[in-house]
Amino acid sequence: MKFEDEVKKYVGRCLKAAKPGVEPHVFEALWDGDTQGWFLALVVDGEDVNVLSYGGDFRMFAGDVPPWPEARVASEVGRRLEQLGWTVWFPRPETPDDDAPTYAQRSQASTCTQCGNLFLPNDSPYVPNDICWPCKQERARKRAIDKRKQQLLESPSPPASEIPIIICLIAGVGASEQRMSAMADNPFPELVRVLKLASQAEVDLDTNPEFDESTLRVALGHTRRIVHELLAEHEEPSPEWRFSADLLEFEGQKIWVSRLGDGTRLRTMMRMVSQLGGATRMRFFSKSALSVRDAHILRMLNVSGGTAHESALLQAAQDFGSEDAVRHTLRRLEDLGCVTSNGTMVTLTEKGQILAT
Ligand SMILES: [Zn+2]
Repeated sequence: MKFEDEVKKYVGRCLKAAKPGVEPHVFEALWDGDTQGWFLALVVDGEDVNVLSYGGDFRMFAGDVPPWPEARVASEVGRRLEQLGWTVWFPRPETPDDDAPTYAQRSQASTCTQCGNLFLPNDSPYVPNDICWPCKQERARKRAIDKRKQQLLESPSPPASEIPIIICLIAGVGASEQRMSAMADNPFPELVRVLKLASQAEVDLDTNPEFDESTLRVALGHTRRIVHELLAEHEEPSPEWRFSADLLEFEGQKIWVSRLGDGTRLRTMMRMVSQLGGATRMRFFSKSALSVRDAHILRMLNVSGGTAHESALLQAAQDFGSEDAVRHTLRRLEDLGCVTSNGTMVTLTEKGQILAT
């Protein structure tokens, strides 16, 4: 189907349908819909001439429309008829709307306060009567998105697939900390289990506990055992695959370990053994109390250097909810020990900084 051919075809049909004695002729393009989707009815001097339909509503879900090809053809047909002195009535060229007034109904039409298009007000006292149907749809859609966004912002961060723990290994006073976030494929599930066993009690990870050297030794022994188990099943990559592998040393033994696939876990555990071996203290920080919004605000504060004016933060955090919601998050973060506030300035604490990463 060629655009120009379609336009010519419908201009021809409209000219043929023009009623003798009517002056000027009136061309109307009006949206209508059925179970297949939207179509455009072409009307000349009050009589239906044709319907334009280039595909059902599945196009809307596929993201193909707008632009609506029906509207493009009808607009061009109208433009050419207008040049012949016709009156053209196409109240909704951009959006399908079967509430749009026909030419005969034009005196009963209202102007939509939102988009400025004409529409026929309904007589129901229960629905707003100042905006057109497409604007009503759009308003409902925005409300649904806002609601979903609020739900997402209030959902827990991190997602369920992630273990919400950050481990800090501290190698002596003044030495730099090793920080690792705990993903599902990391060794931390085992570590957490062994730490729970070692402390002979449930470890409350939200209170960011510290562990002493003896606990570290237990964790080290456990991690070393995991490495030995993995090594027992480990197959060194053959020489032609060693371009994506490294020769690593573990307890005096040299082993080729791939950087991909199964090698990843073995590497992580080997690195963990060396880090645990050098550490003197170990701290756990849990993200489980943080919502997505809390985590966003912490990160914002972190990238702005760890301290910010509360008013500037409220302004910058508009995307993450209403001012009240963001203020509520700041108070929560304060209760969790992630930030301090003097009423004007908000500052990240060490814990906040760790959780922000
Ligand atoms: Zn409107």
